[in-house]
Amino acid sequence: MPDVRTVRGPVPADEIGFTLPHEHTAIALWHVPDRWDYWELSADETVVEPELLAFRDEGGSCLVDLTLPGVGRDPARLARLAERTELHIVMGCGWYRGAYYPPEALIERRSVDDLADELVREWSEGVGTTGIRPGIIGEIGTDKPWVSPAEERVHRAAGRVARQTGLAITTHAVLSDVGLAQLRIFEEEGADPSRVVIGHADSFPSLDHYLEIVRRGANLEFDFLGMSFTPMERFGEGRVLELLLELLSRGHADRVLLSQDVCHNGQLTRYGGNGYTYLAPS
Ligand SMILES: [Zn+2]
Repeated sequence: MPDVRTVRGPVPADEIGFTLPHEHTAIALWHVPDRWDYWELSADETVVEPELLAFRDEGGSCLVDLTLPGVGRDPARLARLAERTELHIVMGCGWYRGAYYPPEALIERRSVDDLADELVREWSEGVGTTGIRPGIIGEIGTDKPWVSPAEERVHRAAGRVARQTGLAITTHAVLSDVGLAQLRIFEEEGADPSRVVIGHADSFPSLDHYLEIVRRGANLEFDFLGMSFTPMERFGEGRVLELLLELLSRGHADRVLLSQDVCHNGQLTRYGGNGYTYLAPS
């Protein structure tokens, strides 16, 4: 039985129950140059903890937190939250997307192998001196419907790390078929496509696109479920569900993941949102 690597250590996969595979418990995006909004999911543990407890009380077992360095990853905080809520929490690794690469990561100056080595080190020894090890690569991805040169380097590094460690990769791919370009890079680097999740599929509702990802042996993730920032999200879920049912009727249930991508205070129940229980089993 394979293990799921959580922030509190490995857990046998058969002990993991209902899981949200693409979430955040804190993230901030407004600090980058030329971004003037205040997009944030508060890092205040007293704000998010009751939301996580509500998820657990509704039958939730595990949550994958894909916040990366540069936008707020904090391994010790995740371990504290997992301890207090008794949820299994899996932490990501890598670098998010071009606009959010932290300057200190020196993405454009280091070799792809050097970037990969940093992630392999986290995988084998833990982040910094915390001893807390990531359980997945991502979310990494692209700002636009193409892969920028810097983003290509991060994708190549991720592919090499996946090949070397067996970690799965999960991506940010919005409003376009850019997930196929991401997948091609992972394949070129020898990653196993069945361990790749192309995220945010609901933002590009196209059955042909979905079928192509499945045909290539990768996975699709509908992770904007319950989201209501844009008109497409507010009114488009019916169409997304039709496409999802079509995939299920064609026998692709084992290639589809569902999540909510909580990434803004407005999604918390405290501020009128769904919290983490829109998809909860009970
Ligand atoms: Zn994303």
